Amino acid sequence: MQQIKTDLRVYKQRNFMDKSKTPGRLMVNEYLKQKYGCKVYRIALNGGFTCPNRDGSLGTRGCIFCSAGGSGDFAEDPKVSITQQIEAGKKRVEKKVKNGKYIAYFQAFTNTYGPVEKLRKLFTEAIEHPDIVILSVATRPDCLPDEVLDLLEELNRIKPVWVELGLQTIHEKTAEYIRRGYPLKVYDEAVRKLKERNLEVITHVILGLPGET
Ligand code: SF4
Repeated sequence: MQQIKTDLRVYKQRNFMDKSKTPGRLMVNEYLKQKYGCKVYRIALNGGFTCPNRDGSLGTRGCIFCSAGGSGDFAEDPKVSITQQIEAGKKRVEKKVKNGKYIAYFQAFTNTYGPVEKLRKLFTEAIEHPDIVILSVATRPDCLPDEVLDLLEELNRIKPVWVELGLQTIHEKTAEYIRRGYPLKVYDEAVRKLKERNLEVITHVILGLPGET
């Protein structure tokens, strides 16, 4: 598994240097195809979480771009189990492609904002599915206490774990405008801790926010 992560970094570097190749999603898709021998699809899951920017801990209105569904409007139905959500996602993909592999992508709201035992149950159920090759967890950098990092590190020894952080901007003024609710140093510290534990980090940014060039 360590080898997979190292390969991914090398692959990213090489391809970003090769201008003839398209960087970004296509490049990662290609990497995954080579690694797993087939196309790898994301299944957007809903673990029934909320967000500190929604439940009143930091705010109630959320980030200005966030939908009522916590930016997970196309995720599966949270009323059913994670296994059932994965099966529902697979069924849709299999209408077009058979024998794919899948990333269990916990997308809706803040997916580490809850008791660690709840996280353990949901994430373990996802990685135990035989067709899941990667666990990907979307969250905020201010919602990664040590016990959650310990859990992610532990799961990363079973199957690769990606942590997707919603940074959106490096500029504090813009962060305030979009109601992100944490300063840049919190992101920096979270990335440092995740890297220390050998977890793959994916950063979400929004290009061209008002006042930015
Ligand atoms: S942190 Fe994520 S879930 Fe929470 S309000 Fe912002 S975009 Fe929505």
